[in-house]
Amino acid sequence: MIGLTYVDLPDKSKWRIFPIHNETIGNELLSYTEKVFPLNLFLSTGRIIHLRKDIKQEETHVNDFSFGATYNSSEEETTVVLIIGETARYSNFGINGYTRPTTPHLSQRSHLISFDSVYSIANLTTVSVPFMLSRATPMHPEIYTHEKSIVDAFSEAGYYTAWLANQSFGNPFLMRISENCDYQHYIPTDVKNHDNLDIRLLDYAQNIMENDSKQKLIVLHSLGCHFKYNLRYPDSFRYYQPDLSSETPLKDILNPDDNPDIHLKELLEKTDLLEGMRELLVNSYDNAICYTDYFIDSTISMLDAQNKPAVLIYIGDHGENLLDDERHLFLHATYQGSVYEYHVPLFVWTSDEYRTLHPNVENNLQANKSKSITSMVLFHSLMEAGHISYPQWDASLSIFNPQLRSDSVLYGLDANLKLKQLPK
Ligand SMILES: [Zn+2]
Repeated sequence: MIGLTYVDLPDKSKWRIFPIHNETIGNELLSYTEKVFPLNLFLSTGRIIHLRKDIKQEETHVNDFSFGATYNSSEEETTVVLIIGETARYSNFGINGYTRPTTPHLSQRSHLISFDSVYSIANLTTVSVPFMLSRATPMHPEIYTHEKSIVDAFSEAGYYTAWLANQSFGNPFLMRISENCDYQHYIPTDVKNHDNLDIRLLDYAQNIMENDSKQKLIVLHSLGCHFKYNLRYPDSFRYYQPDLSSETPLKDILNPDDNPDIHLKELLEKTDLLEGMRELLVNSYDNAICYTDYFIDSTISMLDAQNKPAVLIYIGDHGENLLDDERHLFLHATYQGSVYEYHVPLFVWTSDEYRTLHPNVENNLQANKSKSITSMVLFHSLMEAGHISYPQWDASLSIFNPQLRSDSVLYGLDANLKLKQLPK
């Protein structure tokens, strides 16, 4: 039986039977027309004014806050890159044991460590990303509204900070952070646009990596594997077919604009159609993972070419359902909150120069890679990676530290933002 929870996607009437709630593509991105001159002048002046007011309000809440963060290393240079992945589910990465070889690059990459028991605090972007970037916990979610973020902490410690994104334009929390960076760039294309490929972020990242600043933090907020999956990769990455770009009778079911009268619930209750639909979704999703593999590896290659002490961390913001079991869950932010939505990949890569200065780093990461942790570790881990100290730093929440704590029971938030024991 398919869940009938109401769906708050932009066109509600056509998506109503999907068992997800109100994480919406529309909420995460203003549309293309709203960002491109001169259309934005006509269409979104009011919305931009409203957004500016929201960002200012965010600023007011945290204006006087300080971590007391300082750079505590005698090393001349450190580059830290954080890639925030989108809709990345742990089990579909070849490097994590998936039956398909979806990570040909990362699987071959030296000095890359994949953590295997990391769970996101929440199963939707608008909650999980603020939790990753702040010291907020599921027990104390209010912290993210009156403390600054990890990016601000790096600024405080004297780092040059850059925020590069092809999503979440319009999210006041993230835009407040990015506006306080030394450099910010949002690629102004729509999530529904086939040209909004993550690799485009690297044009901007290269300039930052090569600038004269000695300490740099570069955040890449990618679009990863967000639905529709076939829009996340070019034709050359259509390894698994049929995918959502293929001409099949089922294609139109996921193109409601083309065929609004189809009742998906009735169709999916016929097992043969369900299997066909699952095949299209999984093939497309896996192709998007292949492209994510290429994007992460390209970022590492670019960073490696700088020949400087550098660390890169990639973490998924949450996972995804792909009609996996009898619940027929699809997408994310479901009320049920499956393990597919919470179990996320976390990769750490270190440069030769970084490991020379910190000979224990790889051993520490290896020893920690199977500890059971949540995305809450990101804040303290980045601080340690970037040699930043501050009075309340917590070694038990750093993946670079032998004291990293492993918890048999993990807590996060459900889609109603209530405290939840995470599925494992
Ligand atoms: Zn997300």
